[in-house]
Amino acid sequence: MAKPLVVGNWKSYVNSLKEAKQLLHALEKSMPREARAGAVLCPPFPLLDTLARNYRGTCFSFGAQDAFYESGAHTGEVSMALVKDAKAKYVILGHAERRARGDTDMIVAKKTGAALDARLTPIVCVGELARDKEGHYLAELEQSVLASLEYVGPQSFKKIVIAYEPVWAIGAPLPPSARVIRETVIFIRKALAQRFDRADVLKARILYGGAVNGDSVAGLISESCADGFLLGRASVDAEAFAGIIRAYT
Ligand code: PEP
Repeated sequence: MAKPLVVGNWKSYVNSLKEAKQLLHALEKSMPREARAGAVLCPPFPLLDTLARNYRGTCFSFGAQDAFYESGAHTGEVSMALVKDAKAKYVILGHAERRARGDTDMIVAKKTGAALDARLTPIVCVGELARDKEGHYLAELEQSVLASLEYVGPQSFKKIVIAYEPVWAIGAPLPPSARVIRETVIFIRKALAQRFDRADVLKARILYGGAVNGDSVAGLISESCADGFLLGRASVDAEAFAGIIRAYT
């Protein structure tokens, strides 16, 4: 099985290079010497290149929080090639906060294809807006998972990471129970098995994201079936982030 991943999405929480370096300094001091999980940090674009180059060869890998599927006349967008050139390995795609600003499954699919072409590892976020008693949200989720991976072929499927992030849990005080996460991760694997090789689907990394912190993580590691976590708030709290990595030692 691939190593679990703990991915920190710094969003716009960090607003200067000085702040970023302070956070990394605190993180380096708190990180365990050895851990079973990989640590990926996704700072805002203007910090990505400097941090990814300066911290090369450390226990951290770096990623972007989004990128565009084309280069050219696209004011304000950043291409996958530029993310790659910044020495990033990963790119988060389809985060709920990008989807809320207009990223559809089709756009996420194009971005995922472009990320793979640029030899980046896409972390493709999917998750229902809300749950209903009748379970209609499951059809919504299945459709979103498959549509977001529309341009992923059987070989490149092995390279992607999926993050299950129920929108209702992002920013919430507490994550859902390990059982709720486990059942949904299994559901996502079943959806993926409609399109991809079963053995590859079983090996695919599916992270969970939404309100994970140091208090909740131990139970989620042992019982949720998630292959790691995508963190928002906890990613800019050095003790919380390192504590989550330590929970994997
Ligand atoms: C997120 O935005 O992806 C996220 C998981 O946020 P938080 O951890 O703050 O709920």
